[in-house]
Amino acid sequence: MALPGLAAPLTELKGVGPALAVKLERLGLFRIEDLLFLLPLRYEDRTQRVKLGALEVGERCLVSGEVQLAETVFRGRRNLLVRISDGSGQLTLRFFHFSRQQQAQFLRGIGVSCFGEVRKGPIGLEMVHPEYRLLRGEQGSASNDTLTPIYAGTEGVQQGRIRSLTDQALHIMAAAPPQELLPDAVKQKLAVPELAAAIRYLHRPPPDADVAAIMAGKHPCQRRLAFEELLAHYMSLRNLRELARSENAIALRDGDALITKFMQSLPFELTTAQRRVITEILADLKSPHPMMRLIQGDVGSGKTVVAAVACLRAVGSGLQAAIMAPTELLAEQHWRSFSTWLEPLGLRPAWLSGSQRAAARHESLAAIADGSAGLTIGTHALFQEGVRFRQLALVVIDEQHRFGVHQRVALREKGVSEQGYPHQLVMTATPIPRTLAMAAYADLDTSIIDELPPGRQPVQTVALPETRREEVIERVRAACRAGQQAYWVCPLIEESEILDYEAAAASYAMLGEALPDVRVGLVHGRMRSAEKELGMRAFNNGTIQLLVATTVIEVGVDVANASLMIVENAERMGLSQLHQLRGRVGRGKVQSHCVLLYKPPLGQLARSRLAVLRDSNDGFVVAQRDLELRGPGELLGTRQTGLPDYRIANLVRDAELMPEVQLAAESIRQSSPAIAAAIVRRWLGDAGRYGKV
Ligand code: ADP
Ligand code: MG
Repeated sequence: MALPGLAAPLTELKGVGPALAVKLERLGLFRIEDLLFLLPLRYEDRTQRVKLGALEVGERCLVSGEVQLAETVFRGRRNLLVRISDGSGQLTLRFFHFSRQQQAQFLRGIGVSCFGEVRKGPIGLEMVHPEYRLLRGEQGSASNDTLTPIYAGTEGVQQGRIRSLTDQALHIMAAAPPQELLPDAVKQKLAVPELAAAIRYLHRPPPDADVAAIMAGKHPCQRRLAFEELLAHYMSLRNLRELARSENAIALRDGDALITKFMQSLPFELTTAQRRVITEILADLKSPHPMMRLIQGDVGSGKTVVAAVACLRAVGSGLQAAIMAPTELLAEQHWRSFSTWLEPLGLRPAWLSGSQRAAARHESLAAIADGSAGLTIGTHALFQEGVRFRQLALVVIDEQHRFGVHQRVALREKGVSEQGYPHQLVMTATPIPRTLAMAAYADLDTSIIDELPPGRQPVQTVALPETRREEVIERVRAACRAGQQAYWVCPLIEESEILDYEAAAASYAMLGEALPDVRVGLVHGRMRSAEKELGMRAFNNGTIQLLVATTVIEVGVDVANASLMIVENAERMGLSQLHQLRGRVGRGKVQSHCVLLYKPPLGQLARSRLAVLRDSNDGFVVAQRDLELRGPGELLGTRQTGLPDYRIANLVRDAELMPEVQLAAESIRQSSPAIAAAIVRRWLGDAGRYGKV
């Protein structure tokens, strides 16, 4: 019978009926080829048989012997005990679940080969429910010639079954190997094998394989596969970028006078980094194709003013711009800054949010529709049904890490017109390491504001056990007495908004009592935005000296007079998030401090995490450590990243491959577009996942 091809459905394999096929689908396995990319989690050595007399407790190993005795005993429930011996020693096999048929197999004198963990039992060493095989006549032929793979996530599917399926898939692969898509030069440079060889090796490693290297994810065979997977994702994002670039956009060239006037009206000089990034943006906006640019800049680096210049270019060209922020609080703050900046220039930004009253919303919608609103600021309400721009030329998305690739793509669709797509500017204060940025943001051009405005002093950070809370409260008192302001942040407790609120409310009550001479306010996630706004405004204008808050103030909030940040339960928070919070202070001229309160005792990992913040004020350094300690999903904002799950690659472990991935991608896309397409298809399917919205 002819073998099925690798692209055939799994039901073509022996032993796969509809029921098993459904279970396999749940594991993400559809075609025979998919089995090849389901790599083992670990391996067991069944190539060496261990003598029964040499067994050690805790060892997982292969043994064999002759059945001496099989009996059922009653120990609370029925147990089947089978004693085997090989001349050097004895071992008991213990079964709790067994059929009569099974029991009858273990005839005295018959050979058994078993694999399992050696434990200490009541009558000597034993294996509980070992995998076993009866040896009929064959002697010693039961040991394997490769290490035995153990596969992950095989819920409802036995290891033996998965092994048999991968055996079949490997057999099919041997007869008709998948196309080798990596150029020889790339493989040579990376010193990695051919695809088929790598797959075969990882599924069935030889007895002398460097298992430690495989477990560490550093084996050349893994690198071979991870590289191709990263390449596929990268090229898919590049395709997306190219597709976007091939669209039309309105070239924005006017409004020079407005921009100059704006810059002159600012109470500060722009930093060199801000100027450089502005130049990059204005050059993009001149192009008749949509800009897709990411600004990375540490907290407080002054991204907002850069965005303002971009908006003025659009407005000055007689068109519209929109700024979207992830929270109402942040959007409101932008609205305030922009109003202050732009009203002297005769511009009034429109406001749009989900919680707005109907009349105000109506008014905004009308101004947006007839074009009288040049600039609109809001939350994602901006991109909902019913919002029609007259001619939207620029979309600015603040704190991009809160949104994912899919939203990014979806937002482009808003504002499409006969003239083309709007330009897009996304900003993030979560600086991510360069290699990760390459993987996550390959569809964007990147600008980095790598300089803080002058006069800022780095925030001094200490970590203290919460037993020293009294001291910390004294510091708050002293700071407030000196005319400064402080934040007291109570972070999420188990992702619950209610507990979150209760923790903040409790701290608020406690601090109010402990500091009768300090004006204390409370802002939390469950407040209506009007209430929040009131609280923030009171803090902004100094009516409130100490602001107790949940992590709602994490991003973007800007009060220059605040110089002290206290974070409770800091040990539970991510490094990048703590860095964000800390960025709320250190915005004025006085030395600022950040106190990370933790609940002792601190584990080793938690200790080293807090030490990272104590030792560095550089968002990139913090992000790199965060990446190493927690993984990319957390860093980029879990699940919202739009970053797909990789089958084999791991962005932390394999990020060092990215520069080479980038080079290979550009060269393959240039020289062999068909190969490039085949690579994307192999790993991402026909739709090339990112392209789908
Ligand atoms: P972020 O990059 O975190 O969004 P913001 O745009 O909120 O930072 O800027 C932080 C603060 O620094 C704001 O008060 C802003 O007005 C101020 N600022 C921005 N650029 C400069 C500059 N070149 N010199 C002095 N202050 C600046
Ligand atoms: Mg900001």
